[in-house]
Amino acid sequence: MVSFPKAHRRSRSFAESMSSKSIFKRIIDREIPANILYEDDQCLAFHDIAPQAPVHFLVIPKKEIPGISGIGDDDKELIGHLMTVIRDLAHRLQLENGYRVISNCGPDAGQTVFHLHFHVLAKKKLSWP
Ligand code: 5GP
Repeated sequence: MVSFPKAHRRSRSFAESMSSKSIFKRIIDREIPANILYEDDQCLAFHDIAPQAPVHFLVIPKKEIPGISGIGDDDKELIGHLMTVIRDLAHRLQLENGYRVISNCGPDAGQTVFHLHFHVLAKKKLSWP
């Protein structure tokens, strides 16, 4: 049996995770359920399965972009749209006391799902960082 060096094994599994359908794409395609807050032709917002605050939802584009570093120049309007959806959801959920928007990009930031997403956390006094 051929055994790959450890680093090679890691990069193979990273490449595999990038090429297979992400969990968020499966939520978009309704293959797995989610508690959906909002949907339009460009994006989806749903509650995080493991909330880190009393309010914790995710806003994702339907377009498959792995993360912030994968955003193209032609995605500027889409990204602006995601921000206005966040603003409107914050208003709808009465987050007048504030909220935090986070997007983890890459391994050092702890990104675990390689489909662009913005976390929105609220209803808790958040520490920094
Ligand atoms: P990341 O770690 O990539 O910044 O964030 C991924 C987020 O997706 C995590 O907060 C995690 O709890 C959430 N998540 C992972 N799998 C699912 C799922 O199947 N459903 C929902 N609603 N959230 C998920």
